[in-house]
Amino acid sequence: VRYFPPFFLTAICLFGISSCSPNRQTKIGGAILVQLPIYSPEQGYFLAPTEIKTLTNIDRLEGTSAQFYVEAKADLNNMTGHAPQIRTVKSKSGVHVATDVYSLQLLTLYHHLEKLREMDVKYKVWGDAVQKPRKVAVFLPMVDDSGRAEVNARYSGELDAVLFSPFPDQSLPLMANGGVIAHEHFHSFFYKQVIQELKDKFPKEETDRDVYHRYLFSALNEGLADVWGWAYSGDDDFVRRSIPRESYLRKMDTPLVKVQSAQDIFHNAVRDPKSFYSLGTQFAKFIRLMAVNESRNRFEAADLARKWVVQFLPQIKERYLNLNEDTLWDPNDILVSFAANALIEKTKSCSKLEKYLQQDQAKILCKSKASP
Ligand SMILES: [Zn+2]
Repeated sequence: VRYFPPFFLTAICLFGISSCSPNRQTKIGGAILVQLPIYSPEQGYFLAPTEIKTLTNIDRLEGTSAQFYVEAKADLNNMTGHAPQIRTVKSKSGVHVATDVYSLQLLTLYHHLEKLREMDVKYKVWGDAVQKPRKVAVFLPMVDDSGRAEVNARYSGELDAVLFSPFPDQSLPLMANGGVIAHEHFHSFFYKQVIQELKDKFPKEETDRDVYHRYLFSALNEGLADVWGWAYSGDDDFVRRSIPRESYLRKMDTPLVKVQSAQDIFHNAVRDPKSFYSLGTQFAKFIRLMAVNESRNRFEAADLARKWVVQFLPQIKERYLNLNEDTLWDPNDILVSFAANALIEKTKSCSKLEKYLQQDQAKILCKSKASP
């Protein structure tokens, strides 16, 4: 898992090479090439000159894709902080090379956010609305529920910003992990298209039924975010690159087990409301399996999964509001609705998926494939 330190060393060593000259061209009027750590399933992580198109000032890392806040201060729904100071040199062949670890992480983060914004447009996540630069607080100290410092990345709906803690570990820094960045970026879709849309109808944990539905929404949010992270990075195990202890729980290509019924999950939810990641991973793995079954290669699978997720998001609110007041929304029903959107018509898909659902829902899934 310790892929990253060599890249940082290479980047820093290059500073000493005579073909590099300090970068004095801070204002940019077009695409530039930057030496960044890139991942592909075939090659793992490797350093490559990578195009960044939307930067207007490289020293302050300003551009239309992201706005960074260093030493950020956040209150309820406002964040302040200053722009970063990036240090690069330019090689003879015109490639910008970061001269410290901090600059390399931030440039890598900018590159991923630029690509994710491109994808927002391609898949019409926000229709035709133009999005502002993604707000990002970096090296922001965070604490967990018990007040201990934590290493994490988070999306804050109130701030509409992605937050990254300092990363002291030896693993791949969260800010350079494309899968993690895509995962956090996705949470803004769910926040705006599901949570904000439901307004005061979003379950408030007043009753056990509310506790259950909050748990279900959290699982769905995490599961779809993992689909987005997987589709973006092509990496079945992107969480482990930065947080090795999460691997078993979050790995996308481990065997899928039967999705539990609403009643079974209800007990977990009431006993341990924070345990929703395991259900989230089930959602993610089921959707990944569907996409892989329907595709010839990983690019097609990623493309399909993204289309399905974007199509499904606005339907979540209606489906939840249509439930009877005394029923629980069954996670199996969620997957059947998701699959109905995905228009699975092939018999082989149904037979590959039905064993992971409870019997009643599996029947519905396999019926839906026959209808036009
Ligand atoms: Zn998440």
